[in-house]
Amino acid sequence: MRIRKKPRKPKNAMNILKRKAWTLFSRYIRTRDGFKCITCGKIDQSPRMHAGHFLHRSIASSLIFDERNVHAQCAYCNTYKETGGVYAAKIIEKYGIEVFNELQKKRTEYHKWTEKELQAIVDKYASPTSGNTDSN
Ligand SMILES: [Zn+2]
Repeated sequence: MRIRKKPRKPKNAMNILKRKAWTLFSRYIRTRDGFKCITCGKIDQSPRMHAGHFLHRSIASSLIFDERNVHAQCAYCNTYKETGGVYAAKIIEKYGIEVFNELQKKRTEYHKWTEKELQAIVDKYASPTSGNTDSN
């Protein structure tokens, strides 16, 4: 008898919601940045353009949906990170050293996203240009 060792992961509602939030947030980020790679300057409006985290989502879970931590980035720069300190320099240039330090402080901060928070992100970024409207 053949035993399936790797049963398919159950797609729970939270994962689906998190993916939806990321899809909308990522679209907003790429649109905001004019599909221009933050680290090499390449412009590409195809799906090859990513939304790349400065501090990676697998570590900095509290910064996954932080607009200052995520920017349009080409697949090459995002995948291979052959940019050295370029991304860090761009963050400082864009937001100043205080924001850079704030992000660094949160780099290992664990955050478990709740359904309510994820739904708020989905609602906030439902339209590609509906991002940072908190100051209104
Ligand atoms: Zn690039």
